[in-house]
Amino acid sequence: MRPAPIASTPRLEDLFLAGLVDRENMTNLDFAMLALEPNRQHYGEQMKRLLPLSRILCAIAVLLLVDANLLGHEPAAGKVYVVLWFDTEDYILPQSDDAAKRLAAFLTEQGIQATFKVVGEKARTLERRHRTDVIAALQKHAIGYHSNTHSQHPTPAEYESLLDWETGVAEFSRRERPGFDDVQRIFKQKPCCYGQPGSSWAPQAFPSLASWGVGLYLDEAEHVGLNGQPFYYGGLLNIFNTREGPQLRPNGEWTNIQESEDKFRRFYEQMTSNGGGLISLYFHPCEFIHSQFWDMNFARGANPTREQWQIYPLRPPDSRERAFSYFEQFIRYLKSFPQVQFITGPQAVRLYADGAREHRFSASEIVDIASQVESEVNFQVLGAYTLSPAEIMTLVAERMTAQPRADTGVVLPFTIYGPSLPSPQMTEAVVVTWSQFECSAHDVYRFIQYNHQIPNAVWLGSQSVPPEAFLVAMAKIARKLMNGGAPPERVMVAPARLATEQYVAVDSPEIWSWPIFPPGFHSEHLLELARLQAWTLKPAKQSE
Ligand SMILES: [Zn+2]
Repeated sequence: MRPAPIASTPRLEDLFLAGLVDRENMTNLDFAMLALEPNRQHYGEQMKRLLPLSRILCAIAVLLLVDANLLGHEPAAGKVYVVLWFDTEDYILPQSDDAAKRLAAFLTEQGIQATFKVVGEKARTLERRHRTDVIAALQKHAIGYHSNTHSQHPTPAEYESLLDWETGVAEFSRRERPGFDDVQRIFKQKPCCYGQPGSSWAPQAFPSLASWGVGLYLDEAEHVGLNGQPFYYGGLLNIFNTREGPQLRPNGEWTNIQESEDKFRRFYEQMTSNGGGLISLYFHPCEFIHSQFWDMNFARGANPTREQWQIYPLRPPDSRERAFSYFEQFIRYLKSFPQVQFITGPQAVRLYADGAREHRFSASEIVDIASQVESEVNFQVLGAYTLSPAEIMTLVAERMTAQPRADTGVVLPFTIYGPSLPSPQMTEAVVVTWSQFECSAHDVYRFIQYNHQIPNAVWLGSQSVPPEAFLVAMAKIARKLMNGGAPPERVMVAPARLATEQYVAVDSPEIWSWPIFPPGFHSEHLLELARLQAWTLKPAKQSE
């Protein structure tokens, strides 16, 4: 993340990224509050679980809740979790080091832990400048990763835009892993999360990050999103494309503290009365002091040598102080609300731990799951966990190919990614024999176990069909077989659609709006790969 190109104007890019400004029509500021989705059914589910129990149990439960309130322990349901994070990226302006230290020290003094997403070159620069004091101040917080060199070209989306799935995954690791290792070495902490520079997002980053042990994608942009709520995508928890945090940002002069407080209070009231929620709030240490972003050196595709980098001036002292007091006042204000709880990246990962990973799926559960598969293939939200389309396909394929009487339970021990390549076009239904269909189901199961991925095509002899079409047919039959029915003589595979693709943006220059990109940069290819990974998408549920 890296917002506005010019500090003296409102953070238009931020607003754009938050969907509040039409880039083509910049005067059209729409600060209308976006409809807040209630933070799902957490509280509702607790109440639902209580319903079948006896009145006595209900009464005890209510008494316990009342008692917990009296003791000052509010039920977790109404909490407003605030993930506060800093893109710590400016490796040119030396005073940005002190800004980061001041913010970290203030938060420590307030008893609040934030998440500092550090750029690899920033970590190396702090080391070169012997800023052990800055490093020590940041170490008291969670450390994340924010790319190796941020805005030096080619940035991640630029180099990934010419690569396919597999080569892109490998290239992300080749280019970005050294900076990750430097941040880990210098801060003596494994970075807990990643977020892209600017809007330089690429889907191939996800398997790389997962293989490094990173469990969280923490940033803002619009390439993929689930109605502003935390979600799983690409095997990572995503706190991304949220709605509230970007509306709580300072304007260019840091004069809108009152508006930000008012907005926060409204969000808080809506969230607490709807079972709770999460606000993702970000700043850049450098923006508290600079006159413009350090990386305008690399604007519009420019790539000057180190000797040519310009150091932009600081803002006047009163303007810098106004920024720090905006921040300090705002944090104190947030802290004054009883249900606000600040959480770090690792705490968010625990809070939204993927319940499907711990679950052993029985045969009857898989029948229920199969019976909910429709021709618009979507994620499923069930009891304590959610399932991505890829997980649903894995469970159904495993059950289809299991011995009829075996019911030892099925687990999902690894992330199943979407296909690497687009699927074949399918315009009309295909009818095949049962023996062919069964043979293809076994092949799909083996493919998933071998590649940890959904195939781009399922072969029915010499005919290929998209995986979503095969899943729908397979789910229908799995249900029948499990209920003791005989396999049909012939199976019809009809066209279907992967409904989760709707959560991936359509390519446009606006999605890639970042002044650092070469003019007009956009990539249909990256969003096509992103849509293939919509197989991995599902809501993240609070586990505590
Ligand atoms: Zn950044």
